[in-house]
Amino acid sequence: MTTQTSINTGSANLDVLSEGLIELLRRNDPEVASILADEADRQASTIELIASENHVSPAVMHAMGSWMTNKYAEGYPGKRYYSGCINYDRAEQLAIDRATELFDCKYANVQTHSGANANLAVYFALLDPGDTIMSVVLSDGGHLTHGSPVSISGKWLKPIHYPLIYDESRDDYGYIDYDAVEKLAIEHEPKILLCGYSAYSRVINFARFREIADMVGATLVADIAHIAGLCAAGAHPSPFPYSHIVTTTTHKTLRGPRGGLILTNDEELAKAINKAVFPGTQGGPLMHIITAKAVAFAEALKPEFKTYAAQIVANAKALADTLMNCGHHLLSNGTDNHLMLMDLRKFDTELTGKQAAIWLDDAGIIVNKNTVANDERSPFQTSGIRLGSPAVTTRGFKENEMRQVGAFIDRVLRSKGDEAVISAVHAEVREICAQFPLPH
Ligand SMILES: *Cc1c(COP(=O)(O)O)cnc(C)c1O
Repeated sequence: MTTQTSINTGSANLDVLSEGLIELLRRNDPEVASILADEADRQASTIELIASENHVSPAVMHAMGSWMTNKYAEGYPGKRYYSGCINYDRAEQLAIDRATELFDCKYANVQTHSGANANLAVYFALLDPGDTIMSVVLSDGGHLTHGSPVSISGKWLKPIHYPLIYDESRDDYGYIDYDAVEKLAIEHEPKILLCGYSAYSRVINFARFREIADMVGATLVADIAHIAGLCAAGAHPSPFPYSHIVTTTTHKTLRGPRGGLILTNDEELAKAINKAVFPGTQGGPLMHIITAKAVAFAEALKPEFKTYAAQIVANAKALADTLMNCGHHLLSNGTDNHLMLMDLRKFDTELTGKQAAIWLDDAGIIVNKNTVANDERSPFQTSGIRLGSPAVTTRGFKENEMRQVGAFIDRVLRSKGDEAVISAVHAEVREICAQFPLPH
């Protein structure tokens, strides 16, 4: 079926450039125009609680869609393989300078295409096939690139996974088990000790990790993909000076274009990392994305970003408290950062994360299913959902709206998917969304 050419951006308040783009496409590629318009409308009219997502500013968005996509700039500023890179050198140097200022460190590689690529480059810089790394397993909140068997990191390296505290009678249930990290590190002597996760709601004790890394001569790599924006703004402790290397994405709490970033204070490590990124694991850099990273880093350096990051944390806490007051269970009984993991097993033994996410989606609330500590269900079913506040905080939600969101989630889950309840909640979701437009 071909899509119709009438473009309706509905509740999306488009900035002038976006309106121009839709208009341009409407004339020469109506099918794509309608996809873009529908997506703008979808984002504007739904509550985005996926913890790894955000809504970028028009400045970041349009920097990505610029002339800077046209050039091959293999190499680094001042050392390119192609002519004509003068403006690309300026853009990349600016991104590097802003990244190091933002994270208060000496060296930055801004070329990695994604967080996964950043980790791959670090492994390639430091390890040989078969070397040991230590991390949290995917099902406990780790990341694929931290040694999952389906990832190159698990196939070519030897991952040892350290546990969380699984004993529910303990106050620190669901936290990293630092004593176990130390014991396992001494036993296995990893080359790289990884901290930083995809579904961990508590503060990471970087100092303790460094102590452990030093005991066994490991390189401490903090993968702050999720919390980078919080770290940059002081809403979570900085991974520096404790980490030897920091990897991150730029598109989660940092609210930049989709991409990766590697940081360090060590000159030798910085050189090895640059070589491992290019020519080690990547070809030509995505200069339009690097340009947009520069724009995003400048935004994150502004005082408003500190306010934003603090509000992300306050909003997550308001949502967590509301859910727990309604009788829901969160792993570790709450959150210190932007996300939380709802453990559905104690709410309803039959309810899977997959089913919960579908019901919520029908109500206009976007979440992802997620395994929770010691989950007996597969990653396709799961016993939990992950909720995060970065995207809704960008559009201006405060504690009050988060309490309403918590009540919506409670109503949907308690209704067991009742259609009348879902459609009533959906109407209220649309109403709130209309009051809080996307950045424009
Ligand atoms: C999201 C994430 C990544 C990977 O980022 P991509 O840009 O999707 O490749 C790496 N590590 C952690 C901890 C993450 O959460």
